[in-house]
Amino acid sequence: MGYDNDNIFAKILRGEIPSHKICEDDETFAFMDIMPRGPGHSLVIPKKPARNILDVDPASLAAVMRTVQKVGRATMNAFDAPGLTIQQFNETEGGQVVFHLHVHVIPRFAGVALKPPAGPMEDPKVLAENAARISAALEVA
Ligand code: 5GP
Repeated sequence: MGYDNDNIFAKILRGEIPSHKICEDDETFAFMDIMPRGPGHSLVIPKKPARNILDVDPASLAAVMRTVQKVGRATMNAFDAPGLTIQQFNETEGGQVVFHLHVHVIPRFAGVALKPPAGPMEDPKVLAENAARISAALEVA
């Protein structure tokens, strides 16, 4: 399976559809998941096209994981979360729905289960507030 230039995250990277950005650098982009499995759920993606972990350029993957670490730490600080779940799915059978490599970053709290995937869309105002909160925590990290 190849890379589809018209997948939703490629469109977000090109600015063709909106997203709630946390941060970006030359190689990566971090933004809020529109159907969060918990408050503060974000996604980190490479700017260089990659379908998933099976075809990604290793340097691009390393850059993604550097950003995951930064955003993960900032998210835990921003939400005062004692735990952090990192998820990454590959191909339909592996749970992948959007075919541009992405890593989920989800703050976790005692006794709070993840909501099911593909739940309701979050209020854009909440997503904007949460993106700003994580972004601000990156500044002080
Ligand atoms: P996966 O492919 O790893 O199963 O998950 C794809 C993720 O992308 C889901 O968590 C879903 O909520 C999120 N998602 C799907 N469409 C959009 C979108 O248009 N914008 C944003 N920000 N997230 C999306």
